[in-house]
Amino acid sequence: MATLVIAEHDNAQLKPATLHALAAAAELNTETDLLIMGHQCQAVADVAVGLKVGTILLADAVEYEHQLAEPCAELVQSLACDYSHIVAAATTTGKNLLPRVAALLDVGMVSEVIAIESSDTFCRPIYAGNAIATVQALDAIKLLTVRASAFTAVGSSDHGATIRKVTFSGDSGGSRFVSEALASSARPELTAARVVISGGRGMGSKENFALLEQLADKLNGAIGATRAAVDAGFAANDMQVGQTGKIVAPELYIAVGLSGAIQHLAGMKEAKVIVAINKDADAPIFEVADYGLVADLFEVLPELEQLL
Ligand code: FAD
Repeated sequence: MATLVIAEHDNAQLKPATLHALAAAAELNTETDLLIMGHQCQAVADVAVGLKVGTILLADAVEYEHQLAEPCAELVQSLACDYSHIVAAATTTGKNLLPRVAALLDVGMVSEVIAIESSDTFCRPIYAGNAIATVQALDAIKLLTVRASAFTAVGSSDHGATIRKVTFSGDSGGSRFVSEALASSARPELTAARVVISGGRGMGSKENFALLEQLADKLNGAIGATRAAVDAGFAANDMQVGQTGKIVAPELYIAVGLSGAIQHLAGMKEAKVIVAINKDADAPIFEVADYGLVADLFEVLPELEQLL
């Protein structure tokens, strides 16, 4: 049996999350195939040929252009009988698709996997990351979403995968694409950035978030926020880091004016180096910080920017 990894892409480029999902699949010690569903997405397959996968299944059809979960889930279901495992990254796309596939196949699924113990036993965080559950999946086909930050991305290989075209006409028409609103930013994407600077309620206002932007400009970082900062209107919803926001694992995470609630830590504690700036020496963020600065952020941020 083999593992099927679902590729994430924008019809032109493969997204980094796929490389992490492939790394997780490699730990299952089965042959790995890659499924690319899209429209006019041959370029994605051409890049994927340079990865260590057996066969690239290319479903290039107009109904997959926007990779809506409903038609994609039906396609995955039609292919599933050849696989022991189906793996997707635990991104919004993967989290939308795989539960539908599980329902269609009438099997369970294991979400947010952070370690693979064996072909049927997986580790995943529970209670906002405060405990790790080891779960065993007994279904014949195991469906996993994997947390990208827990698996090092695979590199290219001279393996030379083959491309096989697949077609499927079972689209139920249950959904249709209406429009897409993309926030354009010159900054790196939050979940892929090497440096993330996050602000909390202590920032005090939307205008004060500009202080973080100046720092982010110097460090080529992305800007994150706590839920309290988002709820207060200081930052946009898609900037939220945490249990109900985005999971990040950058090389450097600078937490400014945020207390370090467990729900926030759930989204950032895997960062390699954590720097905290908070005027309260007892703030819980200092328990996970590698470097802590007990100070008023309005005094130290301009100073830090100056020094950089
Ligand atoms: P606060 O806890 O109010 O902390 C503000 C900090 O700023 C304080 O420590 C203070 O000392 C410091 N400060 C103030 N002024 C200054 C200054 N001038 N200089 C330096 N420091 C200063 N939260 C998330 O972030 N992400 C999530 O995904 C998330 N999901 C949640 C899900 C659920 C189900 C629930 C119940 C909660 C969730 N929360 C989440 C909310 C979380 O519990 C906290 O309420 C939130 O993270 C607190 O945000 P904060 O640290 O910005 O605010």
